[in-house]
Amino acid sequence: MTQSAPDARRTATNVLVIGTGAAGLRAAIELAETGNQVLCVAKRRRDDAHTVLAAGGINAALGTMDPEDTWQFHAADTIAEAYHLADPKVVELLAREAPAAIDDLVRYGAEFAREEDGRLSQRYFGAHRFRRTCFAGDYTGREIQRALVRRAAELGVQMRDDLYVTRLLVSGARVFGAYGFDVDDGTRQIVLADAVILAAGGHTRIWRRSSSRRDENTGDAMRLAADAGCRLRDMELVQFHPTGMISPEEAAGTLVTEAVRGEGGILRNTDGERFMERYDPERLELSTRDRIALANYTEIAEGRGTEAGGVLLDISHLDRETVLERLPRMYRQFVDLAMLDITHNPMEVAPTAHYSMGGVWVEAETHQTDIEGLYAVGEGATGLHGANRLGGNSLVECIVFGRIVGAEAARWSASLDVTVRDRAAIAAAADEVAELLDQRGGEEFPRPLQRALRDLMSEHAGVVRSETGLNAGLAGLDTIAAQVDTMEVRPDIAGFDDLAHAFDLKGSVLAARATLDCALERRETRGAHNRSDFPDQDPDLTMNLLWRPGEPVARETVSEPSSEISALLEGRDEVPVAGRLLE
Ligand SMILES: Cc1cc2nc3c(=O)[nH]c(=O)nc-3n(C[C@H](O)[C@H](O)[C@H](O)COP(=O)(O)OP(=O)(O)OC[C@H]3O[C@@H](n4cnc5c(N)ncnc54)[C@H](O)[C@@H]3O)c2cc1C
Repeated sequence: MTQSAPDARRTATNVLVIGTGAAGLRAAIELAETGNQVLCVAKRRRDDAHTVLAAGGINAALGTMDPEDTWQFHAADTIAEAYHLADPKVVELLAREAPAAIDDLVRYGAEFAREEDGRLSQRYFGAHRFRRTCFAGDYTGREIQRALVRRAAELGVQMRDDLYVTRLLVSGARVFGAYGFDVDDGTRQIVLADAVILAAGGHTRIWRRSSSRRDENTGDAMRLAADAGCRLRDMELVQFHPTGMISPEEAAGTLVTEAVRGEGGILRNTDGERFMERYDPERLELSTRDRIALANYTEIAEGRGTEAGGVLLDISHLDRETVLERLPRMYRQFVDLAMLDITHNPMEVAPTAHYSMGGVWVEAETHQTDIEGLYAVGEGATGLHGANRLGGNSLVECIVFGRIVGAEAARWSASLDVTVRDRAAIAAAADEVAELLDQRGGEEFPRPLQRALRDLMSEHAGVVRSETGLNAGLAGLDTIAAQVDTMEVRPDIAGFDDLAHAFDLKGSVLAARATLDCALERRETRGAHNRSDFPDQDPDLTMNLLWRPGEPVARETVSEPSSEISALLEGRDEVPVAGRLLE
């Protein structure tokens, strides 16, 4: 075993936050506001974290538009739409704390839309009983991110945009920091900390069509946690948005907002048929997200899709001015990326991997993981969304639980009498980087292997899965994993991006294996998880699935909601979706 690299830089802090999206920044702000030392690191610029893509809004039962709304209704809507796999404790905590989260964001200067009398505007989102979604045009994520970055800067939070974390440092079952490298010059970095908050996002970029951009949501949170000894939960539960762009290839999967269908967009196959008449004759294109994703998938799979593998979404029957006024961002997106004028031509679309509902197992109230001092939060954590995420709930999850994990990490740090260190753990982390850089003899580089993995996941673990397909996926994954062990990593004068891609790939391989294993084990169709060989929901599988590398998938019982929320769930009518955004 080699010693830690000689050029490794050491830093120490009370709390290390990995990730500068909404979840990581909110945690860092909590720590700084309460006088704790915090270092917040990311592999990408803080003003360009994945969070900036969030468009439609953020939920809280404020009752500004519908005074009868309460946190209890918010909790009931979330649990009902999660197909009974959400953790009721997480849901109830979120719904109760959501109004305070919006207050925090307003206090930090986030400019949400307001009514003429100054009240915050709230709009409908899919499957919410009342108008409870705050928004800032269709740039809500960007506005929230801007406010958080500004507040963190005001508080003097120490931040780094160039530190790629490769491993969490653990001694026994207690975290004591993280190991990584500087993306620009490759310098190894050791950050010693009493507590670590993992806010490193999800794993939806491991599908060929994904609403995430390159190099984000590559499964890093899952790999870092699993390698540290944590369990993952419900990794098979991935939300596919029905409409992502198909071309150009580099933009494949980019979201085509549900507002297009909300404004009257019509879906057709290549026979010119308005196929939603067969799948949901009443609601047509305003049906639920999972139904439309399945319909689009089926049309394409059964050969009625376009040559490029999509269906057509047409808004050109509306007059041009209406499209430009109601869908300006979509108009610009298609002109910029595809040189296509959507006021004259239909868009080619297909389902796109959009949100990781599974992730790192956390204890409901504190979001502590299986490792002491280690917390997970945001899209990389699990518990809130079950088998179907409600639009607008993920941003508020980041803000509510960001604050909570900040407070918990501070409490943990203050409770310690002695800090632990473990030179062997640091040396192992250093070896991992060194070995990857020394690998030679393979025929592959990280980028082509990333592509191969994304193709594999799309083919075998997309919208519809089956035992045969999932097993074929696992076999293919073994081949890719073997190539990862010999791939060449060649940082050059331009920086250490190639090493970052290699670690991204390692994260993606682990996340893919967990997804395939859990998808095999969930022998039923529920929410976003469709099994062609098990088309019905199985009451015996009203369970969460737990995954650890090399172990059989285990089951965890879902707890019951409180009697107050259970009463609201009884006899609950289906909430209409027509005219409600679902992002
Ligand atoms: C197109 C689109 C629209 C959406 N619209 C909405 C919406 O309207 N409402 C809503 O509630 N949700 C929406 N979502 C979902 C929501 O945006 C995300 O779930 C949320 O922003 C995730 O935030 P996060 O803080 O958990 O992670 P992210 O914002 O993904 O941040 C992850 C951070 O971790 C860092 N990181 C990752 N790996 C490493 C590593 N190895 N080392 C160091 N740093 C690392 C990254 O650099 C980044 O800073 C949308 C998503 C998409 C794609």
